[in-house]
Amino acid sequence: MGLLTNYSIALVPGDGIGPEVIEPTTEILDAVGDKYGYVFNYVELEAGGKAIDSSGEPLPASTLAVAKECDALLLGAVGGPRWDTLPGHLRPERALLGLRSGLGVFANLRPAALLPQLRAACPLKDGALIASNPDGKPSFDLLIVRELTGGLYFGERGRSDDGKAAFDTERYSWNEIERVLRVGYAAAAVRRKKLCLVDKANVLESSRFWREVCALVSKDYPDIETSYLYVDNCAMQLIRDPGQFDVIVTSNLFGDILSDEASVLTGSIGMLPSASLGSPTDPLAKDGRPMGMYEPIHGSAPDIAGQDIANPLGTILSAAMMLRYSFAMETEAAAIEAAVNTVLDAGLRTQDIATRSAGDSEKIVGTKAMGKAVLKALEQ
Ligand code: NAD
Repeated sequence: MGLLTNYSIALVPGDGIGPEVIEPTTEILDAVGDKYGYVFNYVELEAGGKAIDSSGEPLPASTLAVAKECDALLLGAVGGPRWDTLPGHLRPERALLGLRSGLGVFANLRPAALLPQLRAACPLKDGALIASNPDGKPSFDLLIVRELTGGLYFGERGRSDDGKAAFDTERYSWNEIERVLRVGYAAAAVRRKKLCLVDKANVLESSRFWREVCALVSKDYPDIETSYLYVDNCAMQLIRDPGQFDVIVTSNLFGDILSDEASVLTGSIGMLPSASLGSPTDPLAKDGRPMGMYEPIHGSAPDIAGQDIANPLGTILSAAMMLRYSFAMETEAAAIEAAVNTVLDAGLRTQDIATRSAGDSEKIVGTKAMGKAVLKALEQ
């Protein structure tokens, strides 16, 4: 083998099940490196509860500074009941907001597709799943593009002087909306060419502003069908007929909520990966590729932490997204996705995606065993 190409990955295992789902993922990345001739160098960093315990703050300045130097960031999850009583600015979840804004990763891509092997783990009836599928197959394949560094999560917030009222602010600039819409349109262009803007324009001024921006930006994408939906209707349509959606673009708050809803339709929140991308022209971009932060969409799941039962597939698939978006390794990303498919074909299930009705065709395995099975499938 010739000279190996090196990549540096900032690794934040985090709290709860975070380290449990990260461990098999780095083993799989190492196997990809061995197979295809790369070296992934991990720089382990503290953020969230772990960082609070060791340094008193959820996102130490050094963590952000080192992450900025790396080629990409892979995160497990942060948070847990131990830190829930801390004031807002000291809570573990603050680290997520700080990393996302500090790295400028404004577009959060959350693909949600129903794999045929997990049909039984999806709570919807066939009627809902085939409603928009002319081929009659019970499935859906959608992508939620969530704005990640603006809106309610970053707006001004506070309490009144008498402590009897509190407020958060939804504020979006034209630029913040336009850039995430363009990410959505670029994604739709290589998918089924449909983009739905989800908002609450019947009530919120900020949503009406989103629609104004979208009406103008959409003119640059005449091949793509643009539609608009109120978020309450979207929440309903997702369970009535998820196949109608291709790309959904929405704000930080709505994207957070809708993607958890969509995740359940895929079988479990443990299945869903995500990629958060910055701008290719940002100073943190490397070789014209945007800065990327990759994480499963689930949290630290304190209720199942330490039991070796967490589903690692969302994190493993997040690593595949990292290879695709940050390192332009399409073949390698597809190899990980194929390995996940192989283990699901073989009937392996963590308990969150197991179905009682499937009987002997399913084998329930733990986090470690699931990781090893994907590793083996990849190496074959
Ligand atoms: P959660 O996603 O951690 O858990 C919700 C439910 O899904 C739980 O029943 C959990 O057991 C289950 N679940 C989650 N991931 C799973 C997996 N991989 N395999 C199997 N089951 C899984 O959400 P929560 O309970 O609302 O939050 C717990 C903590 O995580 C909180 O402190 C919250 O703030 C934090 N959180 C962090 C992130 C993040 O780090 N990106 C995201 C969401 C929540």
